[in-house]
Amino acid sequence: MRRSRHWRTLLLLAAPLGLALVMWQAALVARDQALQTLQQDAENELRLSAEGLTGHLSRHDYLPRLLATREGVQRFLSSPHSQDAMPLNLLLDRFRATADVSDVYLLDRHADTLAASNWHRTNTFIGQNYAFRSYYTDAIAGGQGRFYGLGVQSLERGYYFSSPVWLDDTQPDSSPDGVMVVKVLLDTVEESWADQDAELLVTDKDDIIFMASRAELRMTSLHPLSEEERQALLATRRYADEPLTHSGVELLERRGERSRLVNFSDGPLAGPRYLAVSRPMEAFGWQMHILKSVTPVIQAQWVSALLAGGLYGILLLGGGIGWQRLRLRREREQFAERERRTLARARDELERNVERRTRDLVETNRRLSAEIDERRRAEESLRQTRDELIQAAKLAVLGQLAAGINHELNQPLAAIRAYAENARTFLDRQRLESVDLNLEQIVELTARMSEISAQLRQFSRKSGETLTAVSPGACFDYALRLFQARLRESDVEVIRRWPEQEAWARADLVRLEQVLVNLIGNALQAMADAPAPRLELSVEVEGDRVVLGVADSGPGIAKEHLKRIFEPFYTTKSPGKGLGLGLSISSRIIDDLGGSLSAANRPEGGALFTIRLPRDTGQRRAGAQPHQETLPHA
Ligand code: ADP
Repeated sequence: MRRSRHWRTLLLLAAPLGLALVMWQAALVARDQALQTLQQDAENELRLSAEGLTGHLSRHDYLPRLLATREGVQRFLSSPHSQDAMPLNLLLDRFRATADVSDVYLLDRHADTLAASNWHRTNTFIGQNYAFRSYYTDAIAGGQGRFYGLGVQSLERGYYFSSPVWLDDTQPDSSPDGVMVVKVLLDTVEESWADQDAELLVTDKDDIIFMASRAELRMTSLHPLSEEERQALLATRRYADEPLTHSGVELLERRGERSRLVNFSDGPLAGPRYLAVSRPMEAFGWQMHILKSVTPVIQAQWVSALLAGGLYGILLLGGGIGWQRLRLRREREQFAERERRTLARARDELERNVERRTRDLVETNRRLSAEIDERRRAEESLRQTRDELIQAAKLAVLGQLAAGINHELNQPLAAIRAYAENARTFLDRQRLESVDLNLEQIVELTARMSEISAQLRQFSRKSGETLTAVSPGACFDYALRLFQARLRESDVEVIRRWPEQEAWARADLVRLEQVLVNLIGNALQAMADAPAPRLELSVEVEGDRVVLGVADSGPGIAKEHLKRIFEPFYTTKSPGKGLGLGLSISSRIIDDLGGSLSAANRPEGGALFTIRLPRDTGQRRAGAQPHQETLPHA
């Protein structure tokens, strides 16, 4: 964080510095290029102007030579004072007009003007002496004269061409007889410069601005003149009495041999800076200068600097945006990476937890499975025990019944024996009818005995697993048969109350019979001392239930016993008479059959046991008397 802030401050400082540097550099380069272009333009324009000026002047170079050979000129010169000058004056004037020059005039050998094209002007050259002019001295010496300067009369700047005139052409070595002069004005050339997008100057060897596109600059000097220089120039009379003040030009920067940057301290050109380029005009001993304003250069400089600055700004902005985006992306990536790691950690943790839980679950599952197995084994053993118990209880009942059964069997046995002995005696006496009667009695008795045996076998057999439709009335009847002897002996009144329509219960015949035997047995035991023993058996239908009732006229069940009689081994009977298992097993059997067993005391006295069993309403039944098949004794 601190590092990035440090960087930002550095960037904030560097950005404007960079901007300034870029703008400065761009300005420099632009200036250089613009100056170069300007210089090339200036050089071209200068060359053209210089050639134009040279051409303009050189055009008139031959004129004095041509005139010097004219017969009219020579004739007049041979005796000037005896001739009328007018024809020559007119000739020269015509010539002037034709050649488009300023003045044409003829000097004698003493430099006095004899004839002139401006004869008609007040300031005519005629009569003037120009011995001080170099165009005279050069020509009178036999050469071609050239001169520039202000006219003494006209005070106009002019360029003078002169040529010697010989009267006798055959002796050119002798001194000339006169001098022919042609004066050309420079103003027309300067006028053509006015259209140019630059200032043009022509200076002589003394640095005097002799020609200029600006009138104000004419006859001024490039550098301030010293007094001596001024006096020397005055002496030549080249510039008449012109003061030759300083033009005000100042050098700012030298840009090569012939090019400089300048400005003007005063005058018409004061203010902007100029690129000044010079070029020698050797034919005239002059320098020609061109001054081009550098304002476009400065403008180009500014435009470039601004453009570069703008570009720099855009680049900086673009760079900044790019950098920012890069940073954002990096941060996003870092964030995503952190998220990914956190997620991965969470996933690992989750996986570990799941693994741990799974392990726990597997362990719990294993434990549960083991417990279930254990429980199943326990249940199995319990069921076995219960089955065994039921069987044991059954046998116990049988045991209780044994005395009665014993009596039941002994009696016919004794009778059979008596009948058999009787039969023997009657056989000895040959009373065969009596024998037959006795044997018939024996057969009847054995039949009865086998019936008793069958009943015992039926009761002691093991119960089935499947539930079927059972007729409770029939079931009561089978149970009662086991008590036949006892009932007969004890003189118990048995009352049966069955519904008119058979009520089928869903049960197992053998187990239900066992329960009924138990209940009837208990009732008979309870009524052992009752004065008028009465056993009431009932079957009723109550909705989807069939209700079986076993009631007696005994003493009933004491209140403190009533709560506990269904507990195993709970008995009020003396040892040897009861185990206390009958009711608990009966209750369990009825539970298994999906019903209930309850006990109560009847208001009129005696106990009432009620069995409720699910009613069987199904169509598929083994017939109205299903037990006939399974009970061969019936
Ligand atoms: P046990 O007959 O061997 O005693 P039970 O479980 O059949 O065992 O009976 C438990 C007790 O319930 C009996 O000891 C008796 O006190 C009481 N009991 C059962 N049936 C009757 C009844 N009909 N009248 C009075 N008491 C009864």
